[in-house]
Amino acid sequence: MSDLRIDRVETVLLDVPLRRAHRFARVSMDAQPVLLVFIRTGGGVTGVGEGVVPGGPWWGGESVETMQLIIERYVAPLLTGRSVDDIAAIQRDVTDVVAANLFAKAAVEVALHDAWARCLGVPVHSLLGGLARRSVPVTWALGTEAAPAVVEEALGKLDARLHRSFKLKMGAQDPDDDVARICAVAEKLAGVAGVRVDLNARWDRLTSLTRLPRLVDAGVELVEQPVPGAEYEALAEINRALPIPVMADESLRTPADALRLARHGAADVFSLKTTKSGGLRATRAIAEVAAAAGIPCHGGTAIESPIGTVASLHLACAAPTVTWGSELFGPLLMREELLTTPLRYADGELHLPDGPGLGVELDPDAVRAFTRS
Ligand SMILES: [Mg+2]
Repeated sequence: MSDLRIDRVETVLLDVPLRRAHRFARVSMDAQPVLLVFIRTGGGVTGVGEGVVPGGPWWGGESVETMQLIIERYVAPLLTGRSVDDIAAIQRDVTDVVAANLFAKAAVEVALHDAWARCLGVPVHSLLGGLARRSVPVTWALGTEAAPAVVEEALGKLDARLHRSFKLKMGAQDPDDDVARICAVAEKLAGVAGVRVDLNARWDRLTSLTRLPRLVDAGVELVEQPVPGAEYEALAEINRALPIPVMADESLRTPADALRLARHGAADVFSLKTTKSGGLRATRAIAEVAAAAGIPCHGGTAIESPIGTVASLHLACAAPTVTWGSELFGPLLMREELLTTPLRYADGELHLPDGPGLGVELDPDAVRAFTRS
């Protein structure tokens, strides 16, 4: 086997333009900032990981700029000279120096796994225990236009067999206007496609308990994170009140969060994100808590480029409990693939690529073209 020792750690900041603006409750983005982390070994192998957040620091406090600083100044010096398979000890040592910053840690942890798997000549999912599946369904995030335009977009995706379920963001408007818009879309798509909504923690307990039942009546099949992340009791109360699943996202970042959610009965589905949880191993640990509690999981996104997307795909394919599909649509939203061979989306699913490591290769010209100057 080649020399596994880490020779260099490098970061590159990209701005990848989107096909159309992507809106959250208070933030909109036309381009997604992406931090690539490269870990190069003495044997000449390079692993890559991606640091990315959904459009800025509003979601969890980190941004690509904070990640680059934390990694270059505090994490990289701890990595040089270590072996890429020494991941548990490296993570312990990093945690001694850097608290929180799970998005930054995820970028490094994925790069270590990619480099290690490439040194062994195996795919990353082999390091995660092997495959439960080779593809996952991909839910599409619909736009925030008026209902007729959104329904037309959904029907176009269904006709082209690109997606079978859709997610709508809520929380930007007055709750009653928001509910009316979503109901108009859900009623049109009833019986032909699944409709899910994500509140991104924008409502309070009472707004949720009074407004969400109308979405149920309109045929919405799942409600994601209506209330702020720390409000486990309110989330549990809403989950008990609704006949459809409540999915936890902002409330779930660590295996301890997963245990607390399970104990409260606060969510019927967990949204897993390798990014928000610090990497593949912690996300797998969350999936195992979920499995023990009988809670199914969903492959969530932070709007990753193909690198972060395929890392999440390896995890989703290796975790038997990911039975609620995914929203790994990030690359479909971007105007540039960044890869020599694009990821394969077909028949409503994202398919795992073959090959060592993450199974994808960056196109150096594309990386150069979008590197922030
Ligand atoms: Mg979410």
